Amino acid sequence: MLDISRILSSRDPGEKEFHQAVREVLESVAPVLERHPEYRREAILERLIEPERVILFRVPWMDDHGQSRVHRGFRVEMNSAIGPYKGGLRFHPSVNLSILKFLAFEQVFKNSLTTLNMGAGQGGSDFDPKGKSDHEVMRFCQSFTAELFRHIGPCTDIPEGDIGVGAREIGYLFGMYKKLRNEFTGVFTGKSLDWGGSLVRREATGYGLVYFAAEMLATRNQSVAGKVCLISGAGNVAQHTAEKLIEMGAKVVSLSDSSGYIYDEEGIDREKLGFVKRLKNIRRARIEEYVDKYSQAVFVEKQSGLDHNPLWSIKADCAFPCATENEIGRNDAEHLTANGVGLVAEGATMPSMPEAVKVFQEKGILYAPGKAANAGGVAVSGLEMAQNSMRLNWSQEEVDGRLKMIMKRIHRTCLDAAAEYGSPGNYLAGANIAGFLKVVNAMLDQGLV
Ligand code: NAP
Repeated sequence: MLDISRILSSRDPGEKEFHQAVREVLESVAPVLERHPEYRREAILERLIEPERVILFRVPWMDDHGQSRVHRGFRVEMNSAIGPYKGGLRFHPSVNLSILKFLAFEQVFKNSLTTLNMGAGQGGSDFDPKGKSDHEVMRFCQSFTAELFRHIGPCTDIPEGDIGVGAREIGYLFGMYKKLRNEFTGVFTGKSLDWGGSLVRREATGYGLVYFAAEMLATRNQSVAGKVCLISGAGNVAQHTAEKLIEMGAKVVSLSDSSGYIYDEEGIDREKLGFVKRLKNIRRARIEEYVDKYSQAVFVEKQSGLDHNPLWSIKADCAFPCATENEIGRNDAEHLTANGVGLVAEGATMPSMPEAVKVFQEKGILYAPGKAANAGGVAVSGLEMAQNSMRLNWSQEEVDGRLKMIMKRIHRTCLDAAAEYGSPGNYLAGANIAGFLKVVNAMLDQGLV
């Protein structure tokens, strides 16, 4: 473990998100390494933390005023031991190599847990689609694909959405790919239903998260119905988490975006969620407008300089962070547990800082890391790839049924692995260990490549 820390700090200095993600996995897999000295002998950890390939490129594009602009594009092809590279594209001004390497690293374990044959990758750009016109987003996506297309393919690397990359962006990316390659293949997932997408892909991360949470609650003879739930974010994952929670009888009382959060004590029902979907997906406006329409709710603007996020101080039973990484710090975790939250299931990737996770574990609440709890999205992406290969479409019931089964299986796998390696009930250890074992055994089988 010490060697790995040294390698990280000398080879990847300053990549703090990547270091954080690696450290968390290393801690969990320590008992596995003790049982399997061959992993150390074969330098498995050293190989795991080194991406197989990193592509970095210039993305020039022209804005609506005729001004030339330049952004940076990336694709981190992290690990292909169990399948072609698979993972999201993120368009957000904060994107850099550290963030993409952390996301790609997380994806290794998440994809492995799905039991589908998917390796791991992640890419994106520091381009911000917020405030851009559709034409600007299209020109950017076309320029991005003009380089990315030579590195991806349905059997090589299959990107999908992440923050800032939704149905609109996937359409533009796919259109340009098809033109350049002159072939119609399932190279992106999250496609529109009319041209190769899968039913339930759009909803899958949020729905899968709630299925996973229901399994967790069942271990304590509880159910989702009647639970008061906090959600952060208002994008794809947050919306569909809310949708499934409402359907299963829970009361969702918050949503947020980067400007702040709304708290609706009466609960966000289907109709209110429909308003949020139009607000966010069509008008691309700020969450604050919710309180203009529903005046009993309050909007709390994001304040800089606070050592906590007041969203996580609201009294509730369950919390679903669905915005971004490191959004829950130690103080937030203390507030959550003090205010009655007994379950935290992560829709976002690594939203809880390590100190927050320690608090959840010390207090004995149910805590599930994103790599297990939000794996439903990439799992249905895997199902989309399967449907594309067979050139047929499964029904809603078929895909949703498979998603449910996969989430149930991941839940069981986490608990079994945790128990086998001495941490019963620890979903984080279980997810890391189970995800790790499948990938590293494949790496050993395939030799030193
Ligand atoms: P999205 O549709 O773009 O929504 C992201 C939401 O998070 C927006 O409400 C956004 O607010 C908010 N947000 C983003 N960065 C923020 C920041 N720095 N501070 C505060 N709020 C911020 O993205 P998404 O697909 O829902 O993804 C959300 C999270 O889920 C990410 O961690 C992603 O890696 C993870 N995830 C997504 C999928 C998937 O299928 N989409 C699958 C697995 C995991 P603004 O609009 O104001 O930026």
